[in-house]
Amino acid sequence: MGNRSGSYYSALKRITKVANSAFSSRKVYNSIAKSAAKAVHANGCRISFLVPQHEYLLTAGTYGLSDIYLKKGPLDARKSLPEILDGETVFVADATKDERVQHHQIAEAQRISSILGVPIIKQDEVVGEMRVYTHEPHWFSESDNSFLRSVVDICAVILERTESKQVLKQEYKKDRKHTLLTEAPQLPTASLRPASFAHPSESEFAKLLDFYRIEWLYEPRAFPLCWKEGAVAEMFTPDFYLPELDLYVELTTLKQSLITEKNRKVRQLKQLYPDVNIKLLAKDDFVKLLVKYGYGPLGEVKIGQVNKVLFSRSQIQRRVKILAKRISRDYAGQQIVMVGVLRGVICFMADIIQQISLPVTVDFMAISNYGGDGQVVKITKDLDSSITNRHVLMVEDIVDTGMTLNYLLTHLRAHNPQSLNICTLLDKRARRLVDIPLKYVGFEIPDRFVVGYGLDYKEEYRNLPFIGLLNPDVSQVHGDLNSMK
Ligand code: 5GP
Repeated sequence: MGNRSGSYYSALKRITKVANSAFSSRKVYNSIAKSAAKAVHANGCRISFLVPQHEYLLTAGTYGLSDIYLKKGPLDARKSLPEILDGETVFVADATKDERVQHHQIAEAQRISSILGVPIIKQDEVVGEMRVYTHEPHWFSESDNSFLRSVVDICAVILERTESKQVLKQEYKKDRKHTLLTEAPQLPTASLRPASFAHPSESEFAKLLDFYRIEWLYEPRAFPLCWKEGAVAEMFTPDFYLPELDLYVELTTLKQSLITEKNRKVRQLKQLYPDVNIKLLAKDDFVKLLVKYGYGPLGEVKIGQVNKVLFSRSQIQRRVKILAKRISRDYAGQQIVMVGVLRGVICFMADIIQQISLPVTVDFMAISNYGGDGQVVKITKDLDSSITNRHVLMVEDIVDTGMTLNYLLTHLRAHNPQSLNICTLLDKRARRLVDIPLKYVGFEIPDRFVVGYGLDYKEEYRNLPFIGLLNPDVSQVHGDLNSMK
């Protein structure tokens, strides 16, 4: 015992020294992980913190764990030993068999046998955890436990100090962009963001997500796809992870042959990890995502005429009548507020309210458009009257990725309406990123850019009485895209 307390003491001495140093956070936590692991005779250690919304854990520092194990990426906070995050110390005798452990195969390949997990608690709130690992089955003593509890207290103090530094920085930085960012719900801290992206399209996609205030992580997790003799032989690292949506996104602006290869990997990943939600956004998908903002490689492209009518005026009118009938039936005896999002919805809203046989009131909202300039989405026109305790029907022209709607619904829910449903004229389901239940849908449309009946391209074409397809100059688009690579 005397010797052990000596090793705890010298480990604590090293830990407090590094905690008080000017090293980067990563270096500090790595060093703490090493000292802690050695003092309790463990082979590895991982220190992680909960990130905004507390849904996943990110690694702050490690010792003795191979790259593959680390690249497991953000752990779903509820899936892996959630008791630690409830404030309990958790001991796992055999990680390769215990149901509470994620990624058994990796644990086995990495020879992880026993795990001891200790919560990091900052002023009564669990903010993260420290786990120590051993290769052989191992029982940790009460003094090991007590030593690790002191170490996690030091981690909490370091976190506190880093956070207050960030607050100070934010307070002093007064530029406009920064003010906007601090107004937004918490985005991942700058340190979690990559210094650079592998492709310009990835940086573009990140900006788009920022605009809609959708949290993202870049290449946070590598998925082992096949193993040979206990070692991982092939891995796949999707470009983005959107924690709130629990969605991985792989962007590919490359050649068709590479897309085929990526498709194969995505299929394999889905088979091996059925719980993992992943979408492949191919070059064309991505261009289409940007085209609606008149932005990106298509921004300057000369758009051809509307070359196909998708829905004629009479088809639209018939469908609008059917939707209005359903709405009138479903809300019979009630009064509804129909909320439209300007400006694409003008024609649809004007037509549908005339067909509804219930008392309705109408209100409008408007939001800023994506401009690729680092701003975040803003409500430029809010509701004029209160929707609290009222039946609200959101009326949309088109739901595409669902990011706009996702943002607006969060805003509307905060006003506590009695009910909140969605009615959209068009549903471009193929491109959905955020899945939102749509109660009333006019037409499901293919993954094409449409205009008319209120819908625009750079403010033109809204006055067409039908919905048509707009064909960009394809050859030019592809030319521009090639220069993106
Ligand atoms: P989301 O956030 O669902 O990706 O996009 C919804 C908004 O994007 C719509 O309200 C609409 O303004 C615009 N949008 C999406 N697809 C199209 C399209 O095919 N044509 C036009 N004109 N706008 C679209």
